[in-house]
Amino acid sequence: MATNRTFTMLKPDAVEKGHIGAILEQINSSGFRIVAMKLTQMTQDDARIFYAVHKERPFFGELVEYMTRGPIVAAVLEKENAVEDFRTLIGATNPDEAAEGTIRKKYAASIGENAVHGSDSNENARIESAFHFSGREMF
Ligand code: UDP
Ligand code: MG
Repeated sequence: MATNRTFTMLKPDAVEKGHIGAILEQINSSGFRIVAMKLTQMTQDDARIFYAVHKERPFFGELVEYMTRGPIVAAVLEKENAVEDFRTLIGATNPDEAAEGTIRKKYAASIGENAVHGSDSNENARIESAFHFSGREMF
């Protein structure tokens, strides 16, 4: 399996609750290398663009409010099979359905406020990384 990259955000609820350190520790100890990382806050336009695929969904307005209400940690991660393995590490979108030990099982409050984002394909990982970072910020 080729080494490749995925993109993550530790979402505003995870940052508010002081879980940055614990989540990064779990990401690192699961074999992911941090290629780029920053604490930042998304504007409403940023969130509408980032989540444009969901713009017709009933939860879109709440999602934009949630994702912009405080800082996030945005990061690019590298590992063999990064996209799929990171989705496994974070668990199902709904924490009630997430496997034991996954990041969402441990830190998510609900299907909406679910602590962490993970790209769902190599193509989206590239698009999402480029949305938050320039090439010279990725190592
Ligand atoms: N979301 C929500 N309600 C839903 C489904 C999703 O509020 O019924 C939010 C949640 O924060 C989720 C994000 O929208 O992480 C993107 O949804 P997606 O289905 O892409 O889930 P993910 O890829 O994050 O697991
Ligand atoms: Mg998704």
